[in-house]
Amino acid sequence: MIGYYVDKSIIPLRQVHLDFHTSPLIKGIGSKFSKEQFQSALKKGNVQSITVFAKCHHGYCYYPTKVGTMHPELDFDLLGEMIDAAHEIGVRAPIYITAGWSEYDAETHPEWMAKRPDGSFDTAYDFNASPETPKPTNIWRTLCLNDGEYCQHIYDLTEEICKRYKKVDGIFYDIVFHGAYCTCNNCKAGMKKMGLNPAVGADVKKYYDIKHLDFTRKCNELISKYHKNATVFFNSGGAELDKPEYYPASTHYEMEDLPTAWGGYNKMAPKAKFFSTLGKYYLGMTGKFHHSWGEFGGFKPKEALKYEAANMALYGAGMSIGDQLYPDGEMDEQTYENIGYAFDYLEKTELYCYGGKYVNNLGIYYTVNNQQIYGISDMLLESQMDYRFVLNNDYSGLDAVIFPSGVVLDEKGLRALNDFIAGGGKVLLIERALLKDGKFQIDIGANYKGATTADCDYIKPTEKLLAYEELPKTPFLSYIPSLIIENKDAEVCAEIYHPLFNRTYGHYCGHKNTPYEKDGEKPPALIKKGNVAYISHNIPKIYKDNGSVFHRRYFIAALELIGYKPTLQQNFGSGGRVTVLHQADKNRYCINMTYASPIKRGNVEIIDEITPIYNIKTTFNVQNKIKRVYNPYSGKEYAFEQKDGVCTFTVDELNCHTTAVLEY
Ligand SMILES: [Zn+2]
Repeated sequence: MIGYYVDKSIIPLRQVHLDFHTSPLIKGIGSKFSKEQFQSALKKGNVQSITVFAKCHHGYCYYPTKVGTMHPELDFDLLGEMIDAAHEIGVRAPIYITAGWSEYDAETHPEWMAKRPDGSFDTAYDFNASPETPKPTNIWRTLCLNDGEYCQHIYDLTEEICKRYKKVDGIFYDIVFHGAYCTCNNCKAGMKKMGLNPAVGADVKKYYDIKHLDFTRKCNELISKYHKNATVFFNSGGAELDKPEYYPASTHYEMEDLPTAWGGYNKMAPKAKFFSTLGKYYLGMTGKFHHSWGEFGGFKPKEALKYEAANMALYGAGMSIGDQLYPDGEMDEQTYENIGYAFDYLEKTELYCYGGKYVNNLGIYYTVNNQQIYGISDMLLESQMDYRFVLNNDYSGLDAVIFPSGVVLDEKGLRALNDFIAGGGKVLLIERALLKDGKFQIDIGANYKGATTADCDYIKPTEKLLAYEELPKTPFLSYIPSLIIENKDAEVCAEIYHPLFNRTYGHYCGHKNTPYEKDGEKPPALIKKGNVAYISHNIPKIYKDNGSVFHRRYFIAALELIGYKPTLQQNFGSGGRVTVLHQADKNRYCINMTYASPIKRGNVEIIDEITPIYNIKTTFNVQNKIKRVYNPYSGKEYAFEQKDGVCTFTVDELNCHTTAVLEY
């Protein structure tokens, strides 16, 4: 079972992450904090959990501490009062401790700072700046977390907090970067002790990994000694798709994606899909801000926040909204009004979005190559083709599987794949997928001939391919050139046109890429043999970098070419997202849909308005005999037909989010 509805008591859905990185130059810290005002904001925001702060990036603590340094302008236990205020109204209050960034500690203990292999400090901080030099945003000095003297300070702080407060719901360690190196004196000495060489990159990385994991292990041990049920999360790397070594350290995952500023609205879905497979709770993180953290007075329209809530619900993620408390401790009224608007809606969707098993029949073979995963995911999400990741060679329930470029299988993996193909499974390989030592690991009907020497090339679809998707009939530009393959016995469905010459100072034509050669050799760009198709371009990267709809359609056409049909068929534009949740205990399927069109304005991706979509034709392949199809929010019944395992009906209106419930 996936989702919170099963046991909401563990980690609630509706959370706020309350930052409080507060300058020592500001007076009256917490002077306007009032239990009643704090509680009233939480109630207005319909908040179930709020992460409150023990220590901030300035390096100060917000409670009377013997281990750390209390904020010089604070004279009471603000942390304790917040925890009590939250607990009194049944709101959870996990505690925030900054780890990797702490200005006070960097200033007083420069030897605690992390160093790059070249000996410089591992930070963009300008050490030559005068006190009057304007400071860029988000610049802090980074401290070494390789289980050294500074880590002992964090352990002591953790223990102090664990002993001081009767009920610690959880600890959120921030800025635990999962990087590759630290060569501070402490680490160099540690490496030598371990027989590792600080001058060798692989040794430095090995030491870093061992010591970072030691850090997370020791924090966990300390917390569980005092508070067995407390949650623990290590942020800034603990919920990234390419850091599997750190997944066990956290009790749950907070995906810090901040869609407006940090990677866009498509980033959360593949992460949620992945973290849903690990059997722990996962939250999407966003901000109340227009841009990102620390933005006082920055607001996102409440409709955008509501969309984000619904979209997180679509993928079974809880929601954590970032805020930063005003230095005097007064909660911002507008912020909690906006949060309440989103959380009231999220609460409404709970029954239909959480607790169940997702239904889809398309797989992406999992790889830690983010560029491939995000590129493929974008194209599928924007085409209303929901998917799951193939992990441990488990192809069950899948009709087709996409192999990202670079994936190579071991013998066991190959056997499983060949069984899948023999059983009628459809496969799409991208560029270097299953390419090992210059040979494809399965029969694609062609041989690998090598890398191209062209600086770009063009794709010309055949008549057959044009029947699947609307593509240009004439050659269209591929921004990254293809690999070269030689056809043996596959059907060629698109060809490569090469440029007349590469663009150099000696040979060039016009502003940009050189036009294509009409009469030259035309190696295959897309081939099909049986139920296997192969695309010789790195389409996920091309799409991610350039965003042309034709590359996306070309990719989707390749899936259609091998006969792939989604379990759920809908088509309501690239802003549409859809998942199907099977709630077997309730004898129903919930088709959840969202629609929004984020646009880039300045350096921010925003949702300005939500456009309603009408009359969405829906075809759902389902064996259970459907008794009723309806909208659970309005109660409206949808007329439907079911024939030969195919149920068809029309969703009348989608305004931001809706659900169609199919009861059987
Ligand atoms: Zn170090």
